[in-house]
Amino acid sequence: MEYMARLLKAIEEHDLYPDVSSVQDVPYPEIIIGNRKYLCFGSNNYLGLSTHSEVKKAAMKGIEKYGIGTCDSRVVVGNLSILEELEQTIADFRRERAAMVFVSGFMANIGIIPALMDGLNLYKLPSVDNGSNLIICDVLDHISIFLGCMLSKSPRKTYLHKDMNHLEKILKKNKDMRKLIITDGVFSMDGDLAPLPEIVELAQMYNAMVMIDDAHATGVIGENGRGTPEHFGLEGKIDIVMGTLSKAVGGLGGYVTASPDVIKLLRVTAPSYIYSSSLPPEQAFGILAALNIIRDRPDLRYALWRNVSHLRIGLQRIGFDTLESQTQIIPVLIGEEGKCIKTARLLFEKGILAPSFISPVVPKGRARLRISVTALHTETQINRFLEILGDIGKKLEIV
Ligand code: PMP
Repeated sequence: MEYMARLLKAIEEHDLYPDVSSVQDVPYPEIIIGNRKYLCFGSNNYLGLSTHSEVKKAAMKGIEKYGIGTCDSRVVVGNLSILEELEQTIADFRRERAAMVFVSGFMANIGIIPALMDGLNLYKLPSVDNGSNLIICDVLDHISIFLGCMLSKSPRKTYLHKDMNHLEKILKKNKDMRKLIITDGVFSMDGDLAPLPEIVELAQMYNAMVMIDDAHATGVIGENGRGTPEHFGLEGKIDIVMGTLSKAVGGLGGYVTASPDVIKLLRVTAPSYIYSSSLPPEQAFGILAALNIIRDRPDLRYALWRNVSHLRIGLQRIGFDTLESQTQIIPVLIGEEGKCIKTARLLFEKGILAPSFISPVVPKGRARLRISVTALHTETQINRFLEILGDIGKKLEIV
């Protein structure tokens, strides 16, 4: 107990405890906190689907039919047929043959990775030897990927961010191992894209499997929102694609698409799927409606990309460093942690919510605002944000 009290005190004394607002309502892209309206530049609700009227209507239909939960795992009595329909729809959407859903993207990653690498060990079948394994990750992969790796018994190596020479060196040194390369499709703190064509080429040369985490790409990246494989013309060429239903899709849940055999195997080897209750039925209903909107309303993506480019160019014109962002996640690099927290607090005083991210979420000295823009923002709202942030940037000598 004493250790925990000391740790908490140290976190608070260093001003590292995050400012967490209690949100009363969400009329996106504004939100209500303490009876005051804030313009939100921090939500992953990229297409505004979480509050879309058709999505809400569909989710309510699900509640009326099935209630709010399944109270059981898929492998016991939680396997509602609507979940199977959702999986087939996700597979069709991603142009893959099979899909499965988890209760979150986090649960997907911590289930899939140990299952893919050592799932066979679970059954202790003497006739099945999976040899020696190696997992290879980009250093900026999401934390849930690293936790998934930790739950696996396989060793892990990490390559420098998007450094293909480094990746090749690791592959070359470990030619005889059974290898899985894992990368975010869109990196969640930097907003840049993984060099997928080069990764796939190296994987083919050195006989490795490739898994991507398309959490921030699903619904928005690619002409039809089918993610980074669509963007790079690599559909059908990635062994395992996971993603989340909690960002552009607007609901909750994680998914994975792969060959029917891999999916069949994951259903009996991924612990977070086997030992956890299944996705609530209203989510399946709401998500099915959201996926229809993603398919039928390309104008939402066009609005998003117009806003992305207006905001990114505006920030760069003022003199902010937006790193190598190519997407709707636009970091504004501040550097020093204290200055970053102060910037976010000054924005908040002016009615703008833009979250700050400091160490350990991002490397020390690389503190930043992580701006996310959505299809719902208007040009006037973006201009207001640019004007206020520009003034703060000058005042704090960031630009
Ligand atoms: N992967 C990435 C890249 C993410 O950014 C996130 C969420 N921040 C997740 C996985 C986890 O997804 P979920 O929120 O659905 O648990």
